[in-house]
Amino acid sequence: MSFEELTDQQAKDQAAELRRKLNQWADEYYTYDSPSVEDAVYDKTYQQLVELESKFPQIVTPDSPTQKVGDHTLPGFTKVPHEIPMLSLGDVFSKDELADFVNRLGETDGVAFDYNCELKIDGLAINLKYENGVFVQGSTRGNGQIGEDITRNLKTIKSIPKKLSRPINIEVRGECYMPKKSFAELNEQRQLNGEEPFANPRNAAAGSLRQLDPRVTRSRKLSTFMYNVADIDDLQSDTQSGMLEELKDLGFTINPGYKVARSMADIDAYVDQYKDLRDSLPYGIDGIVIKVNSLTLQRSLGATVKVPRWAIAYKFPPEEVETVVRDIEWTV
Ligand code: NAD
Repeated sequence: MSFEELTDQQAKDQAAELRRKLNQWADEYYTYDSPSVEDAVYDKTYQQLVELESKFPQIVTPDSPTQKVGDHTLPGFTKVPHEIPMLSLGDVFSKDELADFVNRLGETDGVAFDYNCELKIDGLAINLKYENGVFVQGSTRGNGQIGEDITRNLKTIKSIPKKLSRPINIEVRGECYMPKKSFAELNEQRQLNGEEPFANPRNAAAGSLRQLDPRVTRSRKLSTFMYNVADIDDLQSDTQSGMLEELKDLGFTINPGYKVARSMADIDAYVDQYKDLRDSLPYGIDGIVIKVNSLTLQRSLGATVKVPRWAIAYKFPPEEVETVVRDIEWTV
């Protein structure tokens, strides 16, 4: 689609049509965990809207999908306000765009940053609240400002500590996911029962967590990797990589595949390594996340209404789930 020759009114109409589609797909995906199109279709349509809005900034609306995180919460769950919003991530789809991001940040500050490279786990974001080291509340990201209270369901997940190694007050954020093996077994069972199979492990994890009966969640064998805190002042570390180790010491499960990169060549090598390893991992990843390693720099770079400026997701091309689940020797 070329936007060059559009009048303002045509641009406005096209944006309205793109938003209508994206909002419908977001509702299916976030609210009902049942997408009708592939992520790649959503991503491509979203990129068209980004391009159109950047050519015609006057047509951006505050409720555009480019300006908001996630979507509605489900009725039946108590709402949990996030004092510090839970954001999404900016994304890129090529190494050139990734290099542009790194170069832009380098130019802003005139120095080369260290980056922490992490796997982008294909699950859904959760927030875990601890008081005096005791798990008191867990919630979904929701629209970033308000999530759903899923404490009872999260209590059934073994990798979530009920008590930390230190009696601190802290909110820890990360990803809840369904291992590929559990996903394959669940869908097999659903098909035997004549139920609709889940489209992918991410939707299966989301559907399993947002259950009114915690026994259903328990039966779904979910797991977690934690990678962030709401307020970095609650930690002793001054780097992203140090934060991960501190979270591990507190009792959380972190993904061991992270690596500090000191150059674009290091980042490229990490991307290539995990493009190759992706299929052999026992959980789904849909890309990698590059984060400025210094927490002080993260704080000074800040965020837009939707994404942090100190991180970016590099998304892998979509994969064929069927072949992946058949070829793997399960390790988890
Ligand atoms: P996102 O999934 O692209 O990226 C942000 C999320 O990545 C974070 O909120 C966090 O949950 C997760 N994440 C995983 N590992 C992480 C790590 N190591 N560090 C930080 N975050 C990590 O963004 P989103 O806003 O959650 O969802 C948008 C995406 O969802 C779209 O790009 C599209 O692929 C998909 N989507 C699909 C449909 C559809 O109909 N198929 C509809 C809406 C959205």
